[in-house]
Amino acid sequence: MSKFLVNSRKSLVPYTPGEQPRGMQYIKLNTNESPFAPSKKAQAEAKKAVKRLELYPDPTCRELTEKIAKSIGVDFENVLVTNGSDEILQFCFAAFCDSQNPPVFADITYGFYSVFADLYNLTPTVIPLNADFSLPVDKFAYTKGTLFIANPNAPTGLAVSLSDIEKILLQDPERIVVIDEAYIDFGGQSAVSLIPKCDNLIVTQTFSKSRSMAGARLGFGTANKELIADLNTIKYSTNPYNINRMTMAAGIGVMNDEKYTAKNCKEIIAIREFTKQKLKQLGWQMTDSVSNFLFIKHPTFSGQSVYNHLKKRGILVRYFDKDKLRDYVRVTVGTRLQMQTLIRALEELK
Ligand code: PMP
Repeated sequence: MSKFLVNSRKSLVPYTPGEQPRGMQYIKLNTNESPFAPSKKAQAEAKKAVKRLELYPDPTCRELTEKIAKSIGVDFENVLVTNGSDEILQFCFAAFCDSQNPPVFADITYGFYSVFADLYNLTPTVIPLNADFSLPVDKFAYTKGTLFIANPNAPTGLAVSLSDIEKILLQDPERIVVIDEAYIDFGGQSAVSLIPKCDNLIVTQTFSKSRSMAGARLGFGTANKELIADLNTIKYSTNPYNINRMTMAAGIGVMNDEKYTAKNCKEIIAIREFTKQKLKQLGWQMTDSVSNFLFIKHPTFSGQSVYNHLKKRGILVRYFDKDKLRDYVRVTVGTRLQMQTLIRALEELK
């Protein structure tokens, strides 16, 4: 730490991204990426965009935003495209949280929420999940502040029903509720349909998982026009050109190839269910994940020993050195072949 870092930043504990190994070829099941290549249309569009990199990109992301809006059944003014969904989440913290409206989130959820809270010098209200990792819906419904709910949640993969989300939203229309749907395409019910009815709802989604674009950094938020205008104020106060030309073009390609995304999601879901079955037969316990990852534990082995065992065999998974999570590892659903390799490696645990 340099002597120049301001006091208010000295205690900041940054987000720890999953390992991104160089060198040894791992089977990478640690950051919930897609095992499938990006759509060929996305690749072709990005290639064309490279030729115009001397120009700034369109700050309004008009074409891409229109395509996303059409696909989810809202208007252009209801969508803001961002540099990964991390950026729209950050904009939500910047726009809708302060000491009167502190962020509210679960004790076990996406790790970036507490980092953003810290970054903006906010004291979050942290609500413990139930013992089975389900969301205590009533506690969320009756807590004041700006709510952040990952649905499905990470790293558990568990979803909240649309009726429970609606209950939380309607309980206090004066309070913003952000539903982080990074994993919605693998199960769960999207809250996008509630946007016309709920002026306090923001839904965020990403191109990083189901759309095979983690490396491009693309996400978006959707909400009523006033909320999107507020979020645009934050965007134009930080980075008006937040989406580069190649990413924007690739995103357009993805939206022109929705069948490919749907096919990949179907495949991931089938592989997830196959893997669940096999692991259960081997004595593993797990949450009923509806995401592109499994959250698994074994009655005999600690999460850390499973992580180490798999790493030695060239398979990277995610281990969380945190209360309530130490028994578990989180395993991204890869290709069928990758899952078969994983299962064989787990069979060798002694
Ligand atoms: N929300 C959740 C729950 C996540 O797990 C992630 C991925 N780490 C994100 C948001 C952010 O993903 P991205 O910035 O790649 O869209």
